[in-house]
Amino acid sequence: MTQRAYNFNAGPSALPQEVLENAQQQLVNFRESGMSIMEMSHRSAIFDEVHNEAIALLKKLYAIPENYEVLFLQGGASLQFTMVPMNFLQPDKKASYVLSGSWSEKAIKEAKFFGLAVEAASTKENKYRNIPALADIQFNEDDAYVHITSNNTIYGTQWKDFPETGNVPLVADMSSDILSKPVDISKFGIIYAGAQKNLGPSGVTVVIIRKDLLEKANKEIPTMLKYTTHADSNSLYNTPPTFGIYMLGEVLKWVESKGGVEAIAKHNEAKAKVIYDAIDNSNGFYTGHATPESRSLMNITFRVADEELEKQFLVEAKAAGFVGLNGHRSVGGCRASTYNAVPLEACEALRDFMVTFQNKHQ
Ligand code: PLP
Repeated sequence: MTQRAYNFNAGPSALPQEVLENAQQQLVNFRESGMSIMEMSHRSAIFDEVHNEAIALLKKLYAIPENYEVLFLQGGASLQFTMVPMNFLQPDKKASYVLSGSWSEKAIKEAKFFGLAVEAASTKENKYRNIPALADIQFNEDDAYVHITSNNTIYGTQWKDFPETGNVPLVADMSSDILSKPVDISKFGIIYAGAQKNLGPSGVTVVIIRKDLLEKANKEIPTMLKYTTHADSNSLYNTPPTFGIYMLGEVLKWVESKGGVEAIAKHNEAKAKVIYDAIDNSNGFYTGHATPESRSLMNITFRVADEELEKQFLVEAKAAGFVGLNGHRSVGGCRASTYNAVPLEACEALRDFMVTFQNKHQ
């Protein structure tokens, strides 16, 4: 087998090598059935087991309380931008959105189709270099919900603490940092995330939703877009992305084998530190986009001294086997995504490459 790439893609992104190899072994004849998991009915006993194992393991690893439902949906986090307001924004209510990057902008845009959606805070003027101070977040006691993006994949910022919203449900798009660190789930009404960064391949969207909210959801909306449809049928109302759910379950088993979410979080801190140290010790040759207190442990965004050198950095990095270091097309620059499955060795190799490149060019 050729050596695995140093994969810093922002999503879909690296998966644990052990998971891929194990899936390869199981691909053709799953659990002695004579079939691949992707050839099986989603109503079969074997798939049912895989599906329920994945839900149970996510609940266990992420310490999800009893009063929450875990759903496996489709349509990506982008469809959640629509489903959240469609289900929970009523004409006489407003929803408050914290704008901390492009994905929150996309989320509020969709909410405006359904009712009043306003900014609770925004750091746009600061080029989304930071997460707003908790004290600056404005919302009303009778808001339908407050929406945040827990990790800003494009700008490389991440919430360290979450706002207290009392009786107002806090809704979080956790697409790019779900399961990367322990989180007090009980602070949230809804958490949603596309699986393709920390949880598995693209095609599955995880929704963690407090059960009492399901009862309050709008009723006169299309069947497939109702959370209750999926909650009432254990996410098997229609054909689910069976292979993706199987892979998600395998990634969860890998997280468990690594010591669970706390151990993963420590590992993520160590990995990000290696790269942030390379930036901070470069005497300005590399500059981070995010302000230090808002830095993401998942997406490390930085610039190289000047534009020509930056282009060269990206060309040489690619030639050296580093994948996915280009910043998002909307902002440029460089970005190293260090999701759960990215090994420490890849971060160390990138650090070494950055130091060598700097020594050669400054
Ligand atoms: N939200 C965040 C924070 C993201 O990073 C992304 C994709 O990168 C999305 C939403 C969109 O997710 P999807 O492509 O699953 O719709």
